[in-house]
Amino acid sequence: MTDTERLPLIGMTLDDLGGVCAHGGMPRFVAKQLAQWLYDKKVTSFDEMANISKKNREWLAANYVIGRKKPASSVRSADGTVKYLFNVGPGRNIESVYIPDKERATLCVSSQVGCKMNCYFCATGKLGFKANLSAAQIMNQILSIPPAPGKGGEAMNPLTNVVFMGMGEPLDNWKEVSKVLEIMTAPWGMAWSPKRITVSTVGHIGNLKELLDKTQVHVAVSVHSADPAQRESMMPAQKAFPLQSVMRLLSGYDFSHQRRLSLEYIMWRGVNDDIAHANQLVKLIGNLPVRVNLIRYHAIPGIDLRPCSEERMTMFRNVLNSHGITATIRASRGEDVQAACGMLAGRQESRSDR
Ligand code: SF4
Repeated sequence: MTDTERLPLIGMTLDDLGGVCAHGGMPRFVAKQLAQWLYDKKVTSFDEMANISKKNREWLAANYVIGRKKPASSVRSADGTVKYLFNVGPGRNIESVYIPDKERATLCVSSQVGCKMNCYFCATGKLGFKANLSAAQIMNQILSIPPAPGKGGEAMNPLTNVVFMGMGEPLDNWKEVSKVLEIMTAPWGMAWSPKRITVSTVGHIGNLKELLDKTQVHVAVSVHSADPAQRESMMPAQKAFPLQSVMRLLSGYDFSHQRRLSLEYIMWRGVNDDIAHANQLVKLIGNLPVRVNLIRYHAIPGIDLRPCSEERMTMFRNVLNSHGITATIRASRGEDVQAACGMLAGRQESRSDR
């Protein structure tokens, strides 16, 4: 078998690994050992799996690959943010963004190559949809970043948080994303608390319900306008997934304790940044315990939208705060290397700095 014919093991759940073991005539407990090597110890070769017999390791290596792949390149922002580019097939690249912040380090992962949602303001949307990423390709981003420091290389903090806010709409690739969430939170996998994970969505209703029912991860909904007609002009997904229906669904869940619901609101000058827009958002939120993230827009060539002023953002935040809504203006990270919100386009020109 060639490398491309052998299936990757990362991205497999414990049940999937049980199937692998059954196929190779290995006892079921080997599946747990495999999961530990892949997701806890994060090994990159079968030889490192010391408690699995040589015979079984050889069979695994003949039939499967681990699936770990280093980033093809990376580029570091002046603020310490690092954008990584992974090749995921002929002519297909995706990006992941590492965002250090004191003792925290958040990774923004991609779930698709391109995106079907075609949001007017987004560089990824302009690519159109190319492919869903497999669970292995999503897991590879999480397991391979930050890369181990090379000779004299600077050590980077291990990941404390993962946000599904990179390229693609995660709930449009729910089958693979749900596997990744299981692997990240299961005791046999990475054993992360779901509070360390946020899934961002335009409000893909059917799969959002599954995410809410089957996981405890935080949820972020991209709102950007509380006015249905204006939102539809910026986000065609509003037609299939009206915000009002999304909010109705969300109101049936408890976000007052451990689980967090955020609403993302990118602010554009003269478009969605006046008092009337703020009041519409207040009305939409009603009594839902949400936090609103006001996001500075990063101008993208060819798109006639401009960021709004600091004063406008502060005014908007104050209106929300005066109604008892927690709202913050998000610090912008990685804009100089096109790593900020809405700027990911999987371009090959990222230069390697490692
Ligand atoms: S903003 Fe998100 S959902 Fe919209 S096109 Fe970009 S990647 Fe897709």
